[in-house]
This record gives sequence, C-alpha cells and structure tokens, in this order.
Amino acid sequence: MSAAIAPALEIDAGDTVHIHTVDCFENQITSSPDMDFGTVDWSRQNPATGPVFVRGLSAGDVLKVTIEKVELDGSGLATVGPQGGVMKDYIEERHVKFFDLDTENNTTVFNGMTVPLTPMIGVIGNAPAAGPVPNSTPGAHGGNMDCSKMTEGAVVYLPVFHEGALFGIGDVHAKMGDGEVGISGLETSARVTVRLEKASGISTDHPVLIDTDGLNMMVSHESLDEAVDDSVRQMIKLLRPHTDLSLPEIAMLMSLIGETQINQVVDPLKTARFFVPYYLLEHYSIDLGGEMKL
Ligand code: CA
Ligand code: ZN
Repeated sequence: MSAAIAPALEIDAGDTVHIHTVDCFENQITSSPDMDFGTVDWSRQNPATGPVFVRGLSAGDVLKVTIEKVELDGSGLATVGPQGGVMKDYIEERHVKFFDLDTENNTTVFNGMTVPLTPMIGVIGNAPAAGPVPNSTPGAHGGNMDCSKMTEGAVVYLPVFHEGALFGIGDVHAKMGDGEVGISGLETSARVTVRLEKASGISTDHPVLIDTDGLNMMVSHESLDEAVDDSVRQMIKLLRPHTDLSLPEIAMLMSLIGETQINQVVDPLKTARFFVPYYLLEHYSIDLGGEMKL
C-alpha cells in the first residue's frame, strides 16, 4: 500500500463500491492436475484491489468502512510449511490443500469433517503515512491485520494519511482461526461490497472495528507483548473522553470487562485486538456511527 499508486477508482464519500479480490497468492495456484508449484511466485502475496480515492477525505480524517457483503468464490486453498507459521521448524515441505466452498450452506469439508465457514477480509487499509508498506504487513493504516471479525456487518474505522484515503482491500479468507497460527487462512477470491465515508465522532490512531458484540481496537507491533499493551492504552485513549472516568477507574474497568484477543501471530508485525462489550457504549451513549444496534 502506497500513496504513489494511482487510484483505480474515484468515488464520493458515502458511495457503495463492489470490489473483486484475488486470493492471497494472486490466484496463481489452482487444483488442476497440471499445476506446477515450481512456477508459483510465492512473493506475490496478499494483493489488494485499489486504491479507491474517496473524495472529501484528507490527512487527519478517519475513513468509515461499512462491510455490507462478503461473497466467496466456490473454492479455496490453505498451505503450511517451512516458509512461516508457528510450526515452520517442524514441517519440511510446503503442503497445499484445496477446498470446495459450499456457499449456500456456508460450510466446507476438511478430511471428512464439516467445518462452518466464517468469511473475513485479511487485508484492508489506506495508503500508509510513510510507504510503501508491503501487503504482508499490518500497521496503523490497516493492511494485513487478519482479523477474524472483519466480516459482513462490521464497521471499520481507518486513519487517513493522504488526500482521498487511497483505500484497498484483498486477502479474503473463507475461514481463519484467531492467531492464524499456520500463516494461511482458507484463501479464496471474493466479491466485497463496502460503503466508504468520512467518520464523525471518532478519533483514532489505529484501526477500530465495531460490530454487534462491541468495540475492538487493533494495534500491530514487532512483539505481541507490546501490541497487547498498546491496544489497551489506545482503547483507553479512545474511550475516556466519552466517559466521566478517571484514569485509575477506566483502567480498573478495562481489567474487569475488557478482553485481550489476538488477530494474528505470524505476520512481520503481530496484531493484538482489545475488545470492550457493547453495553459499555450504550451506558455512556458513545455513538461511533456504527449502525448495528444504535
Ligand atoms: Ca493475510
Ligand atoms: Zn490470506
């Protein structure tokens, strides 16, 4: 992601956009018997479709992204191997498995076991402040955050660093567990429908996601320890101005009702997610412009 890439599309704030995405290997890998893995360029990872220039947004604003629809293609793949992931030192060769996706019943089958699909978007972000940033890497601009909650119905807030925001999206997963421990989700191409507009009532330095369960602050760092700590600090920074709580009081509240969760532990930067439940937003009448229950 980079401000140097010319926009693929220019829209007005408030417009809805249908975006076609290729899978995280740029659709190079197929289940065809003729498939030659030797020809795959594994460095072509996590391409995003875009950038979309959103008129009316400039540096310092926050882009509000409402994820209206995530429609999967009918097949996908997953891979593990020595190239990355928690088990990389124990697996000698890359393994690839292909899956048929039953998009009607929202299921797939893993060696005979039926697995429910939970479609999500791996890469979503704006052009970063300094760049380019490879799409393997998450950050304050978004990017490869690999958040299992990044799905239909969620509303995402992304800091804007350049005129037009220069938004991009890709790397859809039909299924991925928190942590993405093997470095691959169930990778597929997809069609994503998003509404892009200027956020009001929220100021954030890092990506924020709101859904019917509550509010999530997502922070990426080299170490998971630092990502976890900073996600808590950033959440307090976001929430406290909307409350009458002193710092010790809100720190206590976070300890009681906040939850440390993990997006992923396998990308060049690791992403922690700090969650607070919806009833906190309701109690303090915090309207971040999510349209879930408000
Ligand atoms: Ca990813
Ligand atoms: Zn992926």
